[in-house]
Amino acid sequence: MKTPICAFCAKTGILCPKCEAKFRSGHISKTDVEVAVRLTKLAEKFPELDKITLIRAFDMGGEYVLVLKGGDLVKLRRDIQIIKKIEAELQRKVWLIEGEASDRKMLEDLFHPVRILTVNIVWLPDGSKMIKAIIPGKKTEKFPINIDRIKKIVKEVRGIDLLVEFEH
Ligand SMILES: [Zn+2]
Repeated sequence: MKTPICAFCAKTGILCPKCEAKFRSGHISKTDVEVAVRLTKLAEKFPELDKITLIRAFDMGGEYVLVLKGGDLVKLRRDIQIIKKIEAELQRKVWLIEGEASDRKMLEDLFHPVRILTVNIVWLPDGSKMIKAIIPGKKTEKFPINIDRIKKIVKEVRGIDLLVEFEH
């Protein structure tokens, strides 16, 4: 498995001078290192994970957001068990997105398996942008996804405010 730190560091959990320098300069975070070490350990038991690249990991108040390389999510979703194993290893709920995805693709991954009807970019008078997503149907109490959490993730990962509305 590729991670933000080198294979040696991911295996030992001790940072070599090169990775240590990346850590000190803020290019990688404590969460990146922790998740890289745990997932590398998990990859010894589940070789499917070796085909995955972890780009970044965010700690969002008790839940992790893992940013993977483009195309990795399709591979992981072939085996739903592997995602459960990742959550078990990290002992947290895990949100999975891909690094260079469009805003729409990122939202589809966060809302997965819930479908999104439309995604619009709304430009605010001050030049900043906001994303507006519309979910088909109407919101019921059984709606399975924490929308507030997704809003926080989008803000943290992309620095964009998200507005979510339901079709009805
Ligand atoms: Zn290293």
